[in-house]
Amino acid sequence: MMSWYFRAPASIQSAALSVYGYRLQKIRRGGEHAAILSDILQSQWWDEDRLAALQCSLVNDLLGSAKTVPFLQDRGISSYKIETISDIRHLPFTTKDDLRQSEEQITSRSNVKTKVVDLNTGGTTGTPLKIFADTAALRRNYAFFDRLRVWAGVQEGSTATFAGRTIVNPSQSKPPYWRYNRAAKTLLCSSYHLGPKSAPAYLDELSKFAPALIDSYPSAIEVLARAQLSYGKSLVRPKAIITSAETLHPEVREMITEAFQCPIFDYYGATEMAAFISQCEYGSYHVNPEFGVVEILDGDRPVDAGELGEVVATGFCNHRMPLIRYRTGDLASWHSDTCQCGRAFRVISKIEGRMDDIIVTPDGRHVGRLDPIFKSTLGLLETRITQDRLDHLLIEAVQTDEFTTSAREKLLSELQNRVGPEVTLDFVAVTEFERTSRGKFRSVVSLI
Ligand SMILES: [Zn+2]
Repeated sequence: MMSWYFRAPASIQSAALSVYGYRLQKIRRGGEHAAILSDILQSQWWDEDRLAALQCSLVNDLLGSAKTVPFLQDRGISSYKIETISDIRHLPFTTKDDLRQSEEQITSRSNVKTKVVDLNTGGTTGTPLKIFADTAALRRNYAFFDRLRVWAGVQEGSTATFAGRTIVNPSQSKPPYWRYNRAAKTLLCSSYHLGPKSAPAYLDELSKFAPALIDSYPSAIEVLARAQLSYGKSLVRPKAIITSAETLHPEVREMITEAFQCPIFDYYGATEMAAFISQCEYGSYHVNPEFGVVEILDGDRPVDAGELGEVVATGFCNHRMPLIRYRTGDLASWHSDTCQCGRAFRVISKIEGRMDDIIVTPDGRHVGRLDPIFKSTLGLLETRITQDRLDHLLIEAVQTDEFTTSAREKLLSELQNRVGPEVTLDFVAVTEFERTSRGKFRSVVSLI
């Protein structure tokens, strides 16, 4: 954000955001955006064969752009062409380390004069990755987000967004923690300032704004849901909630649904623009095949339905920085059934979260999904588990008076059961957690 921005009054900030928002709106939803959206609203009803043929030609288009990317040239990418979509397994992988090379190495050298934006992935560990994209890529990407809005029944209408960008000065300690972007009929809310204490102020503002859609990280909307439930009445009633970027656990989904009385459409997208996996009206997580190819692999072997593997994605949106068989580090498994919605898109049974969110025990086991046991404990508002050594877990928690000594003992013994006796557990009460720069909250952090 510009240097003067944080010193300006809230009304000026809103005006500036509206101007900025208007330009952003033109970038994201101008030009070919409408045509792409209209195309994919039709192709969503195509059969499997027709979609596979489309994917095959989109991979070959991408290979055309990949030929002009130096590091892919070095891997002999120009000699590849695929006949059927299953041939994709012969293409080389791209790792996160590959993307830490210079912009010149990882982006297409054709049309270098086109304006390119760089997007940070804001990782919490290691160097954040830079993703370079042009306007065409952003428009294509936004068409898929807008198709999800159609699935959610909120194509038109206002939106409240819990933004990753810092829109309110971090040192500000009283409301308003939000700004208006009139161009996009959007209320931008700071997720950085949201916590149990400030939640009522957010709810008041949201009830006035009455958004059709709330677009949020699960951990932000969870705080609001808890506050709304404690009021005992629904102040805020959106038509739908769209969540992304963090694992949405079933207990949390249930609580949010109860609080806001509306469906949640969760999606997996990520800044890398390599895959788009979104929930339909029936709740299934569908791979959007016109967005990219998703493989789930154990090493280089495709996993069977129900078996956990790494999401490896080839994205069609971004020809400026083609991602071919990109190893995302996220874990997921296939569902064997088709979905009642009638789309032939493949279904993923669950996205387990990041591989580095998994705790590895001294005996070599991988333990995931630890936070549900915390979520079900009364009196714990937020918790974070940090594995700093193979045999040590630090558990930090924001607690209320309802959190009794016996609840704590029960919790620790359950955790001990999962990770085994060799791991030492330390429990520390904290008053609040610092969010990462994008407002995300990670409940399991592995430092090993
Ligand atoms: Zn479906």
